[in-house]
Amino acid sequence: THPVYGRIDGPIVMIGFGSIGKGTWPLIERHFEYDADKFVVIEPNADNHNFLKQHNIRFVPDAVTRENYRDLLGGMLERGRGFVVNLSVDTSSLDLMKFCREMEVPYIDTVVEPWDGFYFETESNAERTNYALRQKVRDEKAANPGGSTAVSCCGANPGMVSWFVKEALLMLAQDTGKDATAPTTRDGWGKLMQSLGVKGVHIAERDTQARRLPRPRNVFVNTWSVEGFIAEGFQPAELGWGTHETWMPENAHSYDVGCQSAIWLERPGAITRVHTWCPTPGPQFGYLVTHNEAVSISDYYTVGAADAPEYRPTCHYAYHPCDDAVLSLHEMFGSGRQQVEHEILDVDEIVEGIDELGVLLYGHEKNALWFGSRLSNAETRKLAPYQNATGMQVTSAVLAGMVWALENPNAGIVETDEMDHARCLEVQRPYLGPVEGHYTDWTPLQDRWQHFPEDIDESDPWQFRNVLAS
Ligand code: NAD
Repeated sequence: THPVYGRIDGPIVMIGFGSIGKGTWPLIERHFEYDADKFVVIEPNADNHNFLKQHNIRFVPDAVTRENYRDLLGGMLERGRGFVVNLSVDTSSLDLMKFCREMEVPYIDTVVEPWDGFYFETESNAERTNYALRQKVRDEKAANPGGSTAVSCCGANPGMVSWFVKEALLMLAQDTGKDATAPTTRDGWGKLMQSLGVKGVHIAERDTQARRLPRPRNVFVNTWSVEGFIAEGFQPAELGWGTHETWMPENAHSYDVGCQSAIWLERPGAITRVHTWCPTPGPQFGYLVTHNEAVSISDYYTVGAADAPEYRPTCHYAYHPCDDAVLSLHEMFGSGRQQVEHEILDVDEIVEGIDELGVLLYGHEKNALWFGSRLSNAETRKLAPYQNATGMQVTSAVLAGMVWALENPNAGIVETDEMDHARCLEVQRPYLGPVEGHYTDWTPLQDRWQHFPEDIDESDPWQFRNVLAS
């Protein structure tokens, strides 16, 4: 039997019913009490309507837009109750959370998404960064602290990985004979990471899910939103920038406004490779795709002033998507054209593979610790319907975030770093498959090709200079 975490009175509005929405719905159904006729989906794509009809789910076949969102949502929401679960693309997270807070309706999303057009029509690369998108949400939080809870960026990553960072820190403290009591403040967490000597964190992911059919040419294949992945892949590469770094890429830009925890590179993330490590492959290339958590984790663990920190970890995504997605990226960047046809691998066509998603804490006494979920598609099938392993890691984080929001209804705007990681993981863990810590003696200086000179710094293996592949 599945635990029921509470009752949601009033309308539950789910915006977007793609791979993540479809997988989140059965979890909401399973873990909350609510009136079935109060659950409503806003989903413009007719391809998804048949499923909604077959399952008797009420839906509105419209797109949420800058012009209509107040009327559309205003007509559905009831003040002070219900929930808005935003799992769409092309809708402004900031505008939607502001409106929900006005209405005192709890809100959750998995990414700071802008309105349609932003990613490809914005001229300035600095404005197309996740740093810029996130900073606007942080500014809104600072301007209007407290109030109705809006959970920002609560998927797998961004999201769950922030809870993993805390678990990994406690494991590392324990294993190095330090005090492993969980800190209760942001300052405490920052000082714990600093005292453990952690130089940085990779969000280190390897997706090995595959189907039998070879990838058809001119089709972008992925295990989650193709649109979402292409959009973020074309954003500039970005990373939280740690205090141990002694070198900066020539094409890097830093900030003098906001939290100042990150830098961005004049290059799309999805063709920027880094050396990283996951338990299954060992050393591997990952793509330095920009993500909210790279900025938020570096910000959260900063000790000292934003513009002159005493300590800050480097943090970035190091993503090896499923092999079909790697080929799709190769084709897209090589041809200079986005594929028109998109496919998200379905749980029932995937014949093998896992999504191995964790955090690699590096540079400390025990060199490096990977801590994360190693969820297989086969196990996912037994856990919940309508999703693959990638989806399950996201939707179960959404569930955890919703539970936390109901238990903390007046927490204001929060990121997952600011939530109770133990409570959230308690809710999420049944859906994550094996959650494990693995130490490794690998560093980015190992397992390189010896025949060619490289621009590396042998005095400190964990410099970003060594991590960035030339
Ligand atoms: P998807 O492409 O499968 O689905 C997105 C859905 O949104 C589609 O069904 C689409 O029709 C709908 N949509 C598009 N424009 C809309 C609009 N204006 N109003 C309402 N609905 C609209 O994507 P997905 O894989 O389900 O991902 C959904 C979101 O979750 C994306 O923003 C993605 O970036 C995010 N995501 C986050 C994580 C994480 O770990 N944090 C992981 C996966 C996906």
